[in-house]
Amino acid sequence: MKNNLNIVQLKRNGFLPQRQKDLFSMRIGVTGGHVDAGQLKALADAAEKYGEGYVHITSRQGIEIPFIDLNDTDAVRCNMDDANIRAGVAGKRVRAVVACQGDQVCNHGLIDCQTIAERLDNLYFGADVPYKFKIAITGCPSACLKPQENDLGIMGTVHPKWSKDTCTECGVCIKHCKANAITRSGSTIRIDKDRCILCGDCILACKKDALQAEKIGHTIFVGGKVGKFPREGTKLVELFELEKVYDIVDRTLDLYCKHGREGERLGDVIDRIGIEKCKKGLCKNPHPN
Ligand code: SF4
Ligand code: SF4
Ligand code: SF4
Repeated sequence: MKNNLNIVQLKRNGFLPQRQKDLFSMRIGVTGGHVDAGQLKALADAAEKYGEGYVHITSRQGIEIPFIDLNDTDAVRCNMDDANIRAGVAGKRVRAVVACQGDQVCNHGLIDCQTIAERLDNLYFGADVPYKFKIAITGCPSACLKPQENDLGIMGTVHPKWSKDTCTECGVCIKHCKANAITRSGSTIRIDKDRCILCGDCILACKKDALQAEKIGHTIFVGGKVGKFPREGTKLVELFELEKVYDIVDRTLDLYCKHGREGERLGDVIDRIGIEKCKKGLCKNPHPN
């Protein structure tokens, strides 16, 4: 048995204490839910050798191997290093970014969520913050990754444009628009911008290419959280270009670290300071382009 048990260091290495004495659930750091086959094999081997033969999939696309004995923590960490598997984080730090497969796999995807997730993880994963900071990236307004429930959520959005030339007036787009944003007036298709949720379903539905993407961009939510005191994320910007999104993420973390009190989530900081003041700092140019 190890002497001078250093729980802080064990947690830093992804070993979270279980309710059972000297047993740990080892959390690994997964980015955007992506784990390659070689890593899966290494995890399976570690679960059999050091755990109880199973892994636990967490609510945020993470993986934990429970029931690791304190005496095995160094050995299992070495095995993980060999398989290029990093430790997960807990406590007052930026957590692993969660993301769907976006436009690289999903038919509805509007943005490349995995690439954004990797870049943000490289920049911020594990950084110290006043409490915790969770980022989610979702490919379209179906919002499978729940961007409104994270401290910062990024969602792909598209502005559709109708062109008369190839439209056959079939009405299929009208049926597919769940927001009831499309109407036909004579031979003209109209899109109500106030109703449109920028989902792109009409573009997918139109087989005549009469509806196309005029602009694809990113909508950002800030201050969302669930748990004991849930708060829905506030929509900050819509249809933003990617490089501007990275600027906003950076400014958001900066604001959180400067103004966040111990134990406060970003949403609490926004409520205390006021969303309008926060908006001024976060998006100096609140309009795309
Ligand atoms: S959010 Fe959209 S792109 Fe992502 S998995 Fe769901 S439907 Fe597909
Ligand atoms: S689905 Fe396409 S072709 Fe049919 S009415 Fe709509 S825009 Fe025109
Ligand atoms: S983008 Fe979505 S909400 Fe907007 S008009 Fe098309 S189907 Fe309707």
